[in-house]
Amino acid sequence: MSLNTFVESATEILGPSGVITAADGKEHYLLDFWRQNRGESPAVLRPANTGEVAAIVRLAAELGVPLVPQSGNTGLVTGSIPDASGEQIVLSLERMTSIRERDPAGDYLVAEAGCILADIQQAASDMDRLFPLSLGAQGSCRIGGNISTNAGGVNVLRYGMTRQLVMGLEVVLGDGTIWNGLRALKKDNTGYDLKQLFIGAEGTLGIVTAAVLRLFPRPRETQTLWLAIDRPAVAIELLKRFQARFGELITSFELLTGFGVDAAATHLPGVRHPIESRSDWHLLIEVEWSLEEGLLPRIEEIVEEIFAEDLATDGTIAMSEEQRAMMWRIREGQSEATRNMGYIIRSDISVKVRDLPVLIDRARAHYAKSAPDVTLIPFGHVGDGNLHFNFVAPEDPARVAELKPAILSDLADLVFALDGSFSAEHGIGRAKCGELVRRKSGIEVAMMRQLKRTFDPKGILNPGVVLAGE
Ligand SMILES: Cc1cc2nc3c(=O)[nH]c(=O)nc-3n(C[C@H](O)[C@H](O)[C@H](O)COP(=O)(O)OP(=O)(O)OC[C@H]3O[C@@H](n4cnc5c(N)ncnc54)[C@H](O)[C@@H]3O)c2cc1C
Repeated sequence: MSLNTFVESATEILGPSGVITAADGKEHYLLDFWRQNRGESPAVLRPANTGEVAAIVRLAAELGVPLVPQSGNTGLVTGSIPDASGEQIVLSLERMTSIRERDPAGDYLVAEAGCILADIQQAASDMDRLFPLSLGAQGSCRIGGNISTNAGGVNVLRYGMTRQLVMGLEVVLGDGTIWNGLRALKKDNTGYDLKQLFIGAEGTLGIVTAAVLRLFPRPRETQTLWLAIDRPAVAIELLKRFQARFGELITSFELLTGFGVDAAATHLPGVRHPIESRSDWHLLIEVEWSLEEGLLPRIEEIVEEIFAEDLATDGTIAMSEEQRAMMWRIREGQSEATRNMGYIIRSDISVKVRDLPVLIDRARAHYAKSAPDVTLIPFGHVGDGNLHFNFVAPEDPARVAELKPAILSDLADLVFALDGSFSAEHGIGRAKCGELVRRKSGIEVAMMRQLKRTFDPKGILNPGVVLAGE
């Protein structure tokens, strides 16, 4: 059965508005966010409801056609775009954008997979609640993708990863069966917690069509603080102090390099340095609570102590929403700010929090020797032990082809030596399949393969992602 026949049958199910075959219409679905990777596909299917998703998956299972689920296509490991074969079909959830239920008393809402993350945050806010998942791509990424990558972001320290924010799921399984697991229960110990298998599975075990999302009280006072520090070890010392004083009220604790901050102030429109002086390292810290006021004097107190002990060289507290937004623009714009400086090689690693300074020192020493033409920019979620190391490499395809695998493999070695992870929050996708097999134990890989065969016996759900060669 040819792919053309599949696309014709899919068009009968979805109608012409649910199928894109024109080259220029498909482009957006075939290119990754940073336009570094491109796949091929004869068609993009856009079902409008769970029934249509199920009908498409059933058809694909019957005909053995591989599907690549896609939500906002902001994923950073090329799991949301098809491979280059032209034999995989993109299944976009972008038309499924309704919020099916809102329950402020039960602290949840039920959202379809195609809802944009920022819209869900707004819907929660309209209920006087908080949906705490927050990341730089929130204006484009969609909850189905966030769930499928178990996204982290800037509030993990307090609220956990997406895994902790999902109460129930609706999933279309590999044979087209719909599993309605949309339970809104805080307690439910009735056997295996099946929803967790689909969270972070990157579309390889089922298609997420809707989710029950946990909401939290909306913070009423937020204090955002910028500090200049001279080395990463100070960040760890300050994290301990803030935790001792503010405990669970700390939502974000982010580290940036002076290089990255300067790049943001230079290249991002309207962005200025938050403080006058220049420094090698910066911290962006956010503390929130549900009371109306009283946090600011406590923050001022700890800041005075920090300066009295010379732990920070400069700093400021955001005194307006505009100032706060500017600080966050610098943090969220780290990749964007450096994108025109060369070819950016991205990474996403984690180690124990206390090992972060060691890792940064070892990485700097290693790459100064092995890749002297590359600038290393580590930044990110210090509070979670999770940093993104961006490497700015020369814009030369031959040199990038040589550097990229070596840089990422060496970084995985450095991280592995500290018992860390080579993918803290972005997942495996197609980009890190080889690393997964190399770095995970045989028994872990075998259990994963077993799960894949159980949930997707025909191998039609995102083949080549997470586990290559299935
Ligand atoms: C600027 C920027 C900042 C980012 N910051 C962070 C960050 O701080 N923390 C973080 O964790 N990530 C971050 N990311 C990456 C992150 O994984 C994504 O932004 C987001 O979680 C993916 O959502 P998406 O809707 O774009 O998913 P997509 O990119 O469309 O898909 C991601 C994966 O999930 C699968 N998938 C998508 N939808 C479904 C579905 N409905 N059912 C089953 N499988 C599905 C896809 O096949 C793919 O494998 C960032 C990305 C960008 C571009």
